[in-house]
Amino acid sequence: MSTKRNNPETIVIHGGDYKSDPATNAVAVPIYRTTSYQFNNTEHAANLFALKEFGNIYTRIMNPTNDVLEKRVAALEGGLSCVTVSSGQTASSFAILNVAQAGDNIVSSTDLYGGTVSLFTHTLSKLGIEIRYADPSDPKNFEKMVDDKTRAFYGETLPNPYLRVFPIKEVSDIGRKYNIPLIMDNTASPVICKPIEHGAAIVIHSLTKYIGGHGTAVAGSIVDSGNFDWTADPKRQPLFNEPDASYGGVIWGKAVPELTGANVPFAVRARVCLLRDLGSALAPDNAFAIIQGLETVALRMKQHCENAEKVVNFLKKHKEVTKVIYSTEHNKPIADRAKKYLKGGYGPMVGIELNGGIEAGKTFIESLKMFYHVANIGDVRSLAIHPASTTHSQLNEKELAASGVTQSYVRLCIGIEHVDDIIEDLNQALNKSSKGKLRAVS
Ligand code: PLP
Repeated sequence: MSTKRNNPETIVIHGGDYKSDPATNAVAVPIYRTTSYQFNNTEHAANLFALKEFGNIYTRIMNPTNDVLEKRVAALEGGLSCVTVSSGQTASSFAILNVAQAGDNIVSSTDLYGGTVSLFTHTLSKLGIEIRYADPSDPKNFEKMVDDKTRAFYGETLPNPYLRVFPIKEVSDIGRKYNIPLIMDNTASPVICKPIEHGAAIVIHSLTKYIGGHGTAVAGSIVDSGNFDWTADPKRQPLFNEPDASYGGVIWGKAVPELTGANVPFAVRARVCLLRDLGSALAPDNAFAIIQGLETVALRMKQHCENAEKVVNFLKKHKEVTKVIYSTEHNKPIADRAKKYLKGGYGPMVGIELNGGIEAGKTFIESLKMFYHVANIGDVRSLAIHPASTTHSQLNEKELAASGVTQSYVRLCIGIEHVDDIIEDLNQALNKSSKGKLRAVS
């Protein structure tokens, strides 16, 4: 069924063209555990390799289970095409490697997931791709860093620990003046934000998080909006305008629209060049697990956000909490961005600072009974972490402050349990936090 309905609750179940398995009529999407696919004849094989015909060649590059997931994620984000990959880290790596080569630069938001900072600052720089960091509180900071080697802008919709919503349209508009695409990491805000509607050209996800939702599989996706003209300024986007020696001299920006009728050269190049060369394919078993999560993501996001707002109201009144960090709890114009870009909820993540510094943070975490103490985000379960004693423990005081993490900062990912139980657990742990009482380990 190819649904024209634009409601996320429907798209995540019926999006794409999968109604039932063509071979068996199975309704649940089968796991196609195969590496390869029988070609009909030599002409068929040659056509597939030459991209004259589209079909399955080898599971490193495509797989029918992954294909269903890809079509649904593309539909959810309002894009035209999607490539799934082995993890969110692969999605962000591919998003950059697909547009930049040694000598090029990317202008990225400073508000990023730590793994992305490490990828950008340490690994991509060693490959000769420079990442320039711009503070997104003022979108003009992006423009100040553009030069003729800038190939893309990069941002995260709802980054922690600051939880400042990214100015998607403002930065996208600047990029479009220079033919620079905006790549958005929408991991923390599926359903409640659609970056493509605000001008983003590419949207990536760690599907591991809210889309998967159950903490059972690591996966990533790259959605091509189809809204970016890769050929408008050939010097700006050489990888889409110069012949690709690895693919018989094809010019991706021209060839893909001609061959497919869709303006999705970014997705096609990521698949047939980067998956071909670097691997990092998503296993169909994991695609299946993510498909199960995707079917309920719209429902879950509503509950995550509703619970988070009630938790914020509770925390704001608690005597042991000195500060609540939430997408709507910022000064203008940052708080206004939450209302502008998030629809149907203001996000599942909440930050708090506690009376009593690092010891209060540690005692609070150790006193939680229902919350899980994990580094992950985006699970049905409520999760908490104290970055100063864990993920950020190698940073000095200055580096901690620059990253937005204070000694007593705790990140909460509010789950979909009953909100009364979430608040009860937080309350009892907060009451212990200042007293330094540790939970007895049973
Ligand atoms: N992007 C964001 C915003 C994340 O939070 C994460 C992981 O926490 C990633 C990317 C990387 O995803 P993965 O763990 O699936 O590689």
